[in-house]
Amino acid sequence: MNAGPNAMDTSPAALDVLVIGAGVSGLATAFGLARRGFQVEVLDPGPKPGGVIGSVKRDGAMYETGPNSALDTTPLIGELIEAAGIAAERVPASAVSNTRFVVKNGKPVPLPMSPGAFLATPLFSGLAKARLALEPLVSRQPAGVEETIAHFVRRRLGREFLDYAIEPFVAGIYAGDPERLSVPAAFPKLHALEQRYGSLILGAILGARERRKRAETAKNTAKSFSFRGGMQTLTDALARGAGRVTLGAKAISLTRLPDGSYSVVYDKDGETLVRQARAVVLAVPAGEAARLAYPLAPDATRALQEIEYPCVTVVASVYRREDVDHALGGFGFLAPRVEGRAVLGTLFSSSMFDGRAAEGQVLLTNFVGGRRNPELASADDETIVTKVAAEHRALLGARAPALWNALTRWPRAIPQYELGHLGRMAKVAQAEKALPGLRFCANYRGGVSVGDCIASAHATAESLGAWLRAPVTARVS
Ligand SMILES: Cc1cc2nc3c(=O)[nH]c(=O)nc-3n(C[C@H](O)[C@H](O)[C@H](O)COP(=O)(O)OP(=O)(O)OC[C@H]3O[C@@H](n4cnc5c(N)ncnc54)[C@H](O)[C@@H]3O)c2cc1C
Repeated sequence: MNAGPNAMDTSPAALDVLVIGAGVSGLATAFGLARRGFQVEVLDPGPKPGGVIGSVKRDGAMYETGPNSALDTTPLIGELIEAAGIAAERVPASAVSNTRFVVKNGKPVPLPMSPGAFLATPLFSGLAKARLALEPLVSRQPAGVEETIAHFVRRRLGREFLDYAIEPFVAGIYAGDPERLSVPAAFPKLHALEQRYGSLILGAILGARERRKRAETAKNTAKSFSFRGGMQTLTDALARGAGRVTLGAKAISLTRLPDGSYSVVYDKDGETLVRQARAVVLAVPAGEAARLAYPLAPDATRALQEIEYPCVTVVASVYRREDVDHALGGFGFLAPRVEGRAVLGTLFSSSMFDGRAAEGQVLLTNFVGGRRNPELASADDETIVTKVAAEHRALLGARAPALWNALTRWPRAIPQYELGHLGRMAKVAQAEKALPGLRFCANYRGGVSVGDCIASAHATAESLGAWLRAPVTARVS
């Protein structure tokens, strides 16, 4: 693409890094680089920084367009929050939200959290519970065999655990299909447990000791948190410390210059402009990264194009408290595919955090679509709202319509780490080696959660910072 006669580079004289994409991945990378003393600029076509993260205030409520909370899985998260100056804004999820429900036979049933509760729960049959005792005896898959999560769980834990524990959980994280997601790519820790200990149960016990040593927390025991002003507090704070953030700016093409630096053509309010930088971080969804990386990195481009993103529509529903029979004492419920519900799951957002609904009202956040039901996610507003309301009546005893609903549509919501994903990521890593100073950092790599994005951004800022500081003669990608 030619920048055209009006194109000019208005970047500061010595721009070290141009970050393309101001979601949490790009912002945390830019923040890390700016803190290390580099000149950084971030481009994003959106009207606000944060990507899918957005906290919207309406009629005394506050709902989230994307993540409602994050899990405190690594000390890197706390360090970043501290460095961004928002530690005092952080709020833990309420104690009641330790209870999570899974729909069984048309009713939300609490997920058992202790061995006693497990033995008593109606969520699994006696046979399924007995089958679990055999898990340590199941032989491990030979190393190097890539298995789907569904195959893995049927083999190790049995069909009922797939249907009533893992499938809804996978829908909750990836809006994905366990028959397609790759265990080593989507759940690397689960894969490592089997490979290392030969059993998930033994691995969970022994692995906990090692995590304590590394000061890490397993995702199933990590604490959920948000901020008083919602998750956007995080990305707003990162944007303030991320160098210059230029909004309304869509990157169009990327070129490597003869001196090894990069030139990016972008559109800002209809004007074509150019930025040059010593290094570029592509912190955009895979399809956009593929478009920008072509023709510099053809193999990585093909690999990135293969990553699919199903659509998800988020519906925030506000009810009068007295119109909902269910106590809403929990995090929310997940609806297994076998139950045939319209929603993937519903969060009891106003039970998780204070200030999410006006006095006497409750906020429910519902997720519709994903791999399971893409047609519904792209249906018209009325169809979606009607189906979601029917689930509230059936599952939560809603006796009157919601006071209001707000829909957020993500036509390409979450990248799917499906079979072959690790091979695709190897192609991306090869491109980084071949193109010194170019980095790919977004939620299709290293995990989709906010915490995973922060960890990937930290690693990117650290490695790119070291590369930028290395004497030119000593640099490898
Ligand atoms: C509905 C939903 C609910 C979720 N819930 C949770 C949760 O509860 N907990 C959790 O931990 N995680 C959750 N996640 C996952 C997590 O929020 C995301 O994986 C993470 O926020 C993605 O960050 P990112 O920066 O990689 O991508 P994005 O947020 O997608 O940001 C990419 C950015 O790139 C920009 N961009 C695109 N093209 C260009 C271009 N050409 N030039 C410049 N910029 C461009 C976009 O405008 C966007 O701002 C959820 C995700 C969704 C969608």
